[in-house]
Amino acid sequence: MAEIQLRNVCKRWGSFVGVDDFDLTIADREFLVLLGPSGCGKTTTMRMIAGLEEATSGDINIAGRRVNDLDPKDRDIAMVFQSYALYPNMNVYDNIRFPLKVRKVPQEEHDARVRRASAMVELDEFLHRKPSELSGGQRQRVALARAIVREPNVFLMDEPLSNLDAKLRVSTRAQIKNLSHELAVTTIYVTHDQIEAMTLADRVVVMKQGIVQQVGTPTEIYDKPANTFVAGFIGSPAMNLMEGKLEGGTFTGENVEVAGLKGPDGPAVLGFRAEDAQITNAGEINAPAYSVELLGDATMITVRAGGALVAVKAHKDYRTKIGAPAAIAVAPTICHLFDAESGQRID
Ligand code: ATP
Repeated sequence: MAEIQLRNVCKRWGSFVGVDDFDLTIADREFLVLLGPSGCGKTTTMRMIAGLEEATSGDINIAGRRVNDLDPKDRDIAMVFQSYALYPNMNVYDNIRFPLKVRKVPQEEHDARVRRASAMVELDEFLHRKPSELSGGQRQRVALARAIVREPNVFLMDEPLSNLDAKLRVSTRAQIKNLSHELAVTTIYVTHDQIEAMTLADRVVVMKQGIVQQVGTPTEIYDKPANTFVAGFIGSPAMNLMEGKLEGGTFTGENVEVAGLKGPDGPAVLGFRAEDAQITNAGEINAPAYSVELLGDATMITVRAGGALVAVKAHKDYRTKIGAPAAIAVAPTICHLFDAESGQRID
């Protein structure tokens, strides 16, 4: 059992705040993803949990024990990094076995544990190869097996897929998802890839400049982004965000007018997702098509509205030309409203 509690955890270097007041309880066996752009403090947060970085203030508890002053090796955590950090002179078997030797696990347990861990990541056939004789994906699986073999209380994974090519990333992602289900160990996973976050997480923490922006299930974050930053970070494409003003429930901006909204009068940002709107005859957005992209399963039409480029997914057979008038139906029910100044969601 390993619940992790982070209580007002901060990391400062001089006057620079890397992580600001991180406060969260991660449930036993939860798969938590820390998501955000480069430099937002995800790795620092994870390194503090691992004990590789000292928290400037706040408490870190693992399984009911304050670990701030414990060495990394005493925290019962296994880590997987983007650089696989395998020992080049050892074969796969010995690489996976290494943590058992270091931890002085009784010799007679080694073979069964190495074989179990390597079977879980489908490396059984490669046990005698050296890392240099493996593909990138296979090396990453050795790194995973080396973490699994320890049977730790907590897994920490820092961008473990980022060195893999796009196709391998998708299949290895599925494998990590399956493994996490099978192992049922509390896992913290760092990524800047929102698709990875959405597909893997029980809950996602979205961070920006050291500050937590939102914590929620992938569905909550997708359906109800807390602010324009989260709205613009999640989804492919990200949510369309237009500037304008709200008056008596009607939002108006360049080339856009949507009635039937609820919110205070004043400057506002209106958002909607490309897949929620439709190309129509008479729409709330009317503007010439800026681009037309055939995606295979849909045709993406982009127009300029509310000071931004706004995308809508039309039927895959829909055809139009750049510059031809486009009308987009934006029902109030698909809209998200945000305060223009703070960027916070208006409910
Ligand atoms: P990336 O995806 O690029 O790894 P990240 O979200 O993991 O980014 P962190 O590595 O946690 O970001 O860094 C957070 C911030 O803290 C960054 O602005 C970084 O420059 C800063 N930082 C990290 N380590 C130190 C350090 N030792 N001294 C000063 N600043 C640091």
